[in-house]
Amino acid sequence: MSLTEDSAQLPVADAATVRRACVDLVRSDLWAVVRAVLLVCLAAVSALAGPWLLGRIVTEVQTGHAAVSRIDILASCALIAALAQLLLTRFALNQAHRLGERALARLREEVVDRSLALPARIVARAGKGDLLTRASLDVTTVATTLRDALPGMAVATIHALFLYGAVFVLQPLLGLCALVGLPLIAWAARWYLVRAKTAYLAAGEAASAVTEVVSSTAQGGRTVEVFGLGAQRVEAADRSIDTAYRAARRTLFLRSVLFPVTEFAHFLPMALTLLVGGTAYLNGDVELGVVVTCTLYMWQLVDPLDQVLALVEQFQGSGAALARIKGIEAAAEAETVHVPEPAGDGIELKNVCYAYVDGHDVLTDVNLSVRPGERLALVGPSGAGKTTLGRLIAGMDTPRTGTAAVGGVPVAALAASDNLSGRIIMVTQEHHVFMGTLRDNLSMAAPGAEDDRLLAALALVGADWVDELPDGLDTRFGPGALDLDAARAQQLSLARVELANPHTLILDEATALLDPGTARRAEQAMAAVRADRTVIAIAHRLQSAHDADRIAVVDAGRIVELGSHDVLLAANGAYAALWRSWHGRPEASDEGRPG
Ligand code: ADP
Repeated sequence: MSLTEDSAQLPVADAATVRRACVDLVRSDLWAVVRAVLLVCLAAVSALAGPWLLGRIVTEVQTGHAAVSRIDILASCALIAALAQLLLTRFALNQAHRLGERALARLREEVVDRSLALPARIVARAGKGDLLTRASLDVTTVATTLRDALPGMAVATIHALFLYGAVFVLQPLLGLCALVGLPLIAWAARWYLVRAKTAYLAAGEAASAVTEVVSSTAQGGRTVEVFGLGAQRVEAADRSIDTAYRAARRTLFLRSVLFPVTEFAHFLPMALTLLVGGTAYLNGDVELGVVVTCTLYMWQLVDPLDQVLALVEQFQGSGAALARIKGIEAAAEAETVHVPEPAGDGIELKNVCYAYVDGHDVLTDVNLSVRPGERLALVGPSGAGKTTLGRLIAGMDTPRTGTAAVGGVPVAALAASDNLSGRIIMVTQEHHVFMGTLRDNLSMAAPGAEDDRLLAALALVGADWVDELPDGLDTRFGPGALDLDAARAQQLSLARVELANPHTLILDEATALLDPGTARRAEQAMAAVRADRTVIAIAHRLQSAHDADRIAVVDAGRIVELGSHDVLLAANGAYAALWRSWHGRPEASDEGRPG
């Protein structure tokens, strides 16, 4: 398990990609967007009616020829307009919320799809915390924006535009007064936005780092305990929390400049409208009612402008979150390269060097060819590099230098592509049963496979317990449903391997953890799946190595011997020494010593 905290994070999408993503979100539900915008416009128009009617009343009363009944009518109209505005806004928001929910559902599906398309090695390198934060925290941030902020923003923006338009129509001079606050708001918003993008990205990254450190410490709890790494992990957590705190302070500072400036900018036009309007009225250039209406419009403007600004911040945060979500897509797409068809199933490693940590090669200058159908055993001391070699052959990682190819095509590119013909599968001791039905668990390896094929694969690995399942292939596994024991879980995952139909299997033969009965069944299932396939086995017991066509002895990252059991015994080298020491062990006979 890796406890690294400085892992290379997944990429972040650029601004153009985020813009395209926003346009796509709107375009995919265009009619609903149009409907919502129309409703918002109608609500904005009805909001204009109130102040205008009030202005009329003031003018009529002031000029002195107002009948009481006429004022009653005007007041009733204002009441009706307010009611209409209330209802229309409610409908518009309802439309917009539903629109947001639909967009959100699409986004969530996309995130799951893209995350699953990511090769395990990319996730391993970036750290699970990064992917988890993007798939949870970032999606939630975008979700709140789509569901609440976007409708609010649309209502506020359209309302503000109608208010400005109305003041200009009524009295252009007062319209100019209304615009006075805008440059100040624009300056403050610009100042903020330029700094906010980096600040919020840094805050997001820092949050990812905290999740990564804490989750890897929790997962590696035993290791931390055994090696007494507690203080070191606490220090690492403290460092990441400190970075996250600084990032949060930075965004707080930006907000503390933005909001007071804009607050002032809101009240400036209102004061000016009163001042200029009052003077113009005294000069007889404008009716008192118009001044009242315009001042009320200015007053009404405070709310939507405030809302737009408050939401700008949320949009900024969501923009960064969306960029990080789209980064998952970019990482997945970077991996889907179109690779040529491999010419055959032969595996060829040439001058392969590999390092997990720069400067520390764990494989050095490895050359190996495996012909189709061959059974090759990798033996050697623990930590020699057998598993790493297996991972490179399976294409889970790319060599630092040199090439690992199948049929002339790099295995890593093949593993990342959707080309299934060159498939090599590494079977480890981790047998995951996914939440869902037995059919879901199997058909993920062979989409669209008929039930007969699924059942045949289960039969092949000796999973006769399937007949006793209450709902057959539709039986559900997972929390609150059926649970499979280790042996059955392994059979299930081997059936999955059989369905995926790889030409080459890389087996990590650690059956030591299973009890003898389970191990025997597991071996039988394994034997069924490995028939007719190229098998590269990481042999932990020399017995399985003995049965292989060839044996590669790996030591300190190099293949030091390669040949059949008999040839290597005759050579009297490292393998012969291993064999003699194992053969001499009293317990060797329990493990099935060759006769
Ligand atoms: P084997 O399978 O022969 O026991 P491995 O391939 O697992 O050997 O490991 C080879 C070397 O690489 C070891 O020194 C091990 O500590 C190191 N190693 C394995 N996995 C990682 C990893 N994820 N990060 C850093 N070093 C690793």
